[in-house]
Amino acid sequence: MRIVLSGPPGVGKGTQSHLLARTLKIPHISTGDLFRWHVANGSALGKAVKSHIDAGELVPGVITERVVAERLSSDDAATGFILDGFPRTHDQARVLDAILARRGDKVDHVIEFVLDNAELKSRLLARGRSDDTDDVIRNRLNVYEKEREAILGHYGPIVTQLDASGSVEEISERLHDTLGARVLQARGVGL
Ligand code: ADP
Repeated sequence: MRIVLSGPPGVGKGTQSHLLARTLKIPHISTGDLFRWHVANGSALGKAVKSHIDAGELVPGVITERVVAERLSSDDAATGFILDGFPRTHDQARVLDAILARRGDKVDHVIEFVLDNAELKSRLLARGRSDDTDDVIRNRLNVYEKEREAILGHYGPIVTQLDASGSVEEISERLHDTLGARVLQARGVGL
């Protein structure tokens, strides 16, 4: 199953991706985590992306797309994956579709996590990552809002919205229910 988890920064996609990946036994692929790994290791790629991350700006498309294409070509991602933080732009959605089309695949489900801005900000400030400062958070929320509709429009009928409020367990249960319903629907089983 090829799943995209979409939604604003701080909404809890990372936590839920991790749990879902364990349940479904498919890899959790987070562009943010991949970039932070490179930054921590001081690689050339890490040096190239650091200033963008610190400013809450998108990492340039060519870099992001290369990192994702490479990661998706690993054996463990052959039959399914959970993408977290990608695609973030309409262009990235088109690139993802093209990568998958070359191997006869497509995205099966897009889940958009929805939460109000006040709650997002408080989750981000509580997390306290180095790019979780007031100004940078505001910028990341703006960047998300700007591309949100284009991405959701691109994936149209395979998008489902998920209420991302509540505890980790509550959201996880909601996510399972939502995906379960989508899978049945995709198989033509009416609900
Ligand atoms: P969050 O969702 O909380 O913003 P992420 O870990 O997903 O955190 O992303 C952190 C940063 O990594 C982003 O602000 C951005 O600079 C960079 N990044 C992550 N994914 C992408 C992407 N698909 N395209 C461009 N930049 C990205």
